[in-house]
Amino acid sequence: ERIPDLIRPGTPFVSFEFFPPRDEEARQRMLRVGEELKVLHPLFVSVTCGAGGGGGRGTLQAANMLHTALGYRVMPHLTCCGLEPKGVDDALAQFQANGINNVLALRGDGTDGNGPDGDAPLQHASDLVEHIRKSYPDIALGVAAYPEPHPQSPSVQADIDMLRFKLDAGSDFGVTQLFFDNRRYFDMVERLADQGCHKPVIPGIMPLRTMASARRILSLCGAAIPGNLYAALEKAHAQGGDDAVREVGTAHAVQQVQGLLNGGAPGIHLYPLNQSSQCLDVAQQAGLLG
Ligand code: FAD
Repeated sequence: ERIPDLIRPGTPFVSFEFFPPRDEEARQRMLRVGEELKVLHPLFVSVTCGAGGGGGRGTLQAANMLHTALGYRVMPHLTCCGLEPKGVDDALAQFQANGINNVLALRGDGTDGNGPDGDAPLQHASDLVEHIRKSYPDIALGVAAYPEPHPQSPSVQADIDMLRFKLDAGSDFGVTQLFFDNRRYFDMVERLADQGCHKPVIPGIMPLRTMASARRILSLCGAAIPGNLYAALEKAHAQGGDDAVREVGTAHAVQQVQGLLNGGAPGIHLYPLNQSSQCLDVAQQAGLLG
């Protein structure tokens, strides 16, 4: 089934993001985590595609495992990086042969972090969306959205304009980059609505777990941690190490999830990073377990 057809106002859902496991041990862990998260009845699970792109064989394998072993509706990520249109068609044909009809269409970051090479035919996620839309009308397409603008966007409004462009080019919904201040999300959705775009945008939430991972993730994706949250994390770290950081991170994610759903977000996309326990804590404390 197409994910956008299953998103209904007033019926919030959760979804999860996995990344392709590297070896057998990681595969078993991913399946264990997937099994543990079943209690939340996710609407779908997505599977990332490695930096540099290239069609994502590992992505398809992981998506198939999550589908066949656990019965999940899956959404592989597909990036333009390293892919000619023919490579996109091959990937799409494989997805469809495996019964997959939801895809997250992305630009991706090339090896230099700057997207596809200058002469590549597919430069932006919108090119990928247009290409797929032409030949695969039945595939549901998600695209990335950035409550804190994408690092290469010159302004908040320019970023919103590009998001709207991707949505107008034929994609069905957005999934956001992680963020820590709900106002950014609501501001983005409001600006889209002001421009007449009402397609759903699913907020992506990642509970912070350790000080080191918080710093790394922030330096990678450009999301800002509000000053008071950062201060609370540092204080917790000084007093109780990463166990205390996890508690602060969990409490903040719970607040975010509740605020987002109360404010009308269609659901929550959680980033468990192939681990389940903190997401389960967040879901339980946010009242998502029923
Ligand atoms: P685009 O939409 O192409 O945007 C990139 C930049 O170009 C933005 O600054 C935008 O404003 C600008 N822009 C867009 N269209 C145009 C245009 N037509 N003309 C001029 N400028 C334009 N990366 C991976 O490698 N693998 C993954 O699995 C993956 N999963 C992700 C999942 C989510 C939910 C998110 C939010 C990001 C994910 N990423 C992933 C990261 C993503 O690939 C990077 O953030 C990348 O830098 C931008 O991808 P995009 O699809 O947003 O690109």
